[in-house]
Amino acid sequence: MQDNEVMINYLLEHGYADAKVASALRKVPRELFVLNAKEAYVDIPLSIGHGQTISAPSMVATMSRVLDVKDGMKILEVGTGSGWQAAILAELVGKKGGVYTIERLGELVEFARRNIEKLRFKNVRIINADGSEGLVKEAPFDRIIVTAAAPEIPEPLVRQLADNGKLLVPVGSKYWQTLILVEKINGKVERRDLMEVLFVPLIGKHAYGEGLE
Ligand code: SAM
Repeated sequence: MQDNEVMINYLLEHGYADAKVASALRKVPRELFVLNAKEAYVDIPLSIGHGQTISAPSMVATMSRVLDVKDGMKILEVGTGSGWQAAILAELVGKKGGVYTIERLGELVEFARRNIEKLRFKNVRIINADGSEGLVKEAPFDRIIVTAAAPEIPEPLVRQLADNGKLLVPVGSKYWQTLILVEKINGKVERRDLMEVLFVPLIGKHAYGEGLE
């Protein structure tokens, strides 16, 4: 794929993106979030250094679509990485909404900050912490997205989900996981297995231990 528009058409044709996600992708080109801009428009995860990756466009589009983000929402992302997913969410929630994104590696916090500044988003906060604990002081969140694989659904995130909120999290082993959608409907928590996925591990208190890096 030679450019952003070709990639977006591919994501639309294959049903990964809907019109709303496609329009956010138009404003947040992946080439601003990768180490080598020439590689940006390939549908694979790419290294962003420190053993971490920016996810594949089809995965980012799918998760953005399934989250069903509405204008003005408050969102928590766990696993900032390059900042691409956070920037797409910031575009989807608009100026009245907000995105809090947590990254455990200081170097990637700085990388994501520089990337997001290129697009002048004012509604994204990047926090250097263990995201498996969530962000109690800003809870509840309308949407929570975890972009690293947890051994089980981190309980603090379920607690910090607003009523009628949605939480997306890959859960499983180091080698394959199931993407799970958790919905809180009138206080009742329901979970649905969506698809098999492969993410780098979530390392933290309510996640894998350091040894899995
Ligand atoms: N969403 C990212 C993007 O748009 O580029 C991709 C995320 S990458 C697949 C997963 C990220 O989760 C890595 O940057 C990793 O350092 C981070 N991570 C792992 N465990 C974490 C934790 N407990 N809290 C916050 N971030 C964590």
